[in-house]
Amino acid sequence: MHTKSLSELSTALHNGDITSVALTQHYLDRIKQYNGELNAYITICEESALAQATDADTQFKAGTAGPLTGIPLAHKDIFCTQGVRTSCGSKMLDNFIAPYNATVVEKLNTAGMVLLGKTNMDEFAMGSSNETSFYGAVSNPWDTDRVPGGSSGGSAAAVAAQLAPIATGTDTGGSIRQPAALCNLTGLKPTYGRISRYGMIAFASSLDQAGPMARSAEDAAMLMQAMAGFDERDSTSVDHPVPDYTTDLNTPLDGLTIGLPTEYFDAGLDPAVNDTIQAAIKQYETLGATIKEISLPNTKLAVPTYYVVAPAECSTNLSRMDGVRFGHRCEDPVDLEDLYTRSRGEGFGEEVKRRIMTGTYALSAGYYDAYYLKAQQCRRLIRDDFVAAFKQVDVIMGPTSPTTAFKAGEKTDDPVAMYLADIYTISTNLAGLPGMSIPAGFVDGLPVGLQIIGNYFDEARLLNVAHRYQQVTDWHQQAPDAFAG
Ligand code: GLN
Repeated sequence: MHTKSLSELSTALHNGDITSVALTQHYLDRIKQYNGELNAYITICEESALAQATDADTQFKAGTAGPLTGIPLAHKDIFCTQGVRTSCGSKMLDNFIAPYNATVVEKLNTAGMVLLGKTNMDEFAMGSSNETSFYGAVSNPWDTDRVPGGSSGGSAAAVAAQLAPIATGTDTGGSIRQPAALCNLTGLKPTYGRISRYGMIAFASSLDQAGPMARSAEDAAMLMQAMAGFDERDSTSVDHPVPDYTTDLNTPLDGLTIGLPTEYFDAGLDPAVNDTIQAAIKQYETLGATIKEISLPNTKLAVPTYYVVAPAECSTNLSRMDGVRFGHRCEDPVDLEDLYTRSRGEGFGEEVKRRIMTGTYALSAGYYDAYYLKAQQCRRLIRDDFVAAFKQVDVIMGPTSPTTAFKAGEKTDDPVAMYLADIYTISTNLAGLPGMSIPAGFVDGLPVGLQIIGNYFDEARLLNVAHRYQQVTDWHQQAPDAFAG
């Protein structure tokens, strides 16, 4: 059952070959069997999942079921889920039961999906390895000594090990695409504003975007269909029509122009990963695409720019965690300042504190112009590079991550080495563009992700480009042996 695609599951449910209750129970059993080894889920919603599944089965009987009705999923623990702990991977929110649903959660509930549980993540989505979580590190199902990537590492590990057919993730600088690459998944970070951020705990508000983490482009398109759309409760969501992401998946790629930025094939790229990416590009040529070398000259500014903008925004977003309204509160505070400092000191982990310090510094009087304003100017240059590139090409391709999954602990003492894991993904967030990662092969048994970047609101094309490749390759169908049974 757990090897089936979303559309196969949907057909089986609609035909009455399986019930949602049986399907949900199957996944709950798998979670019980394997989660101890992976630590992919922080919270398992057994009782409510079975209740939702029972409702779904009633809908099948009543003939009111839709394409996603009765299909289980997992949400990254950054999405507020009413009545269910929403921790964001932090001790700060360990006791936080969300009083309302995020729009994404609400939409997928309305579509009839069944929530299996909440997945582990780097604390407040800060990280590239899922090692900063208060709930402990997540293991990569392809090699449990290695990281699954981050910050949506729990969602990635859960889908890769088939402990959920699909999951949600969020991407501020690569957190959907990089774990998708490291775990052999298809992950889509949509255009900024395509999906509502309401109820999605903010890390860096001008960069954060939710998206699907799936086993194929077809599955991702189905979830995307239900997630996308304008939301009046999010002033940054864009009122732009949502196309049908599933109808154009098969459009032939003849005439497609793919840009390869020289800067994405630099000395930092692992040679074996490069070979894998080159082979994937060759495959696209046989599918009818034309390859064109391009330049995104300001790529080198992306990591430093991001590490001013993102910490600056997080320092203001996280100021609401003050021990007063919700979240962790220290014991016996002597006065207000003691309450603030001890609650925050105890509640936040080391990486989060590092970001708050950096961001507060960059925003402080006297440094604002030198750092924050400068970073905003660099951000514009990075965006302009892409605008110029999309005058010449339809999509841009390159590696998602410079290496395959690295060993747990390998980069934990060196924040800058960790930050460089997102060197190829961060620019698209700064520009607000959509980006995808799809499975493109293996190096020493570890997955490699091909990144596809599109123009604004061109998600349908990205999904089409990914789907055509998945019809002639079977990388995306590979699953880790250790969790297959
Ligand atoms: N790894 C990057 C960071 O630590 C991006 C994280 C993300 O996309 N949420 O900030």
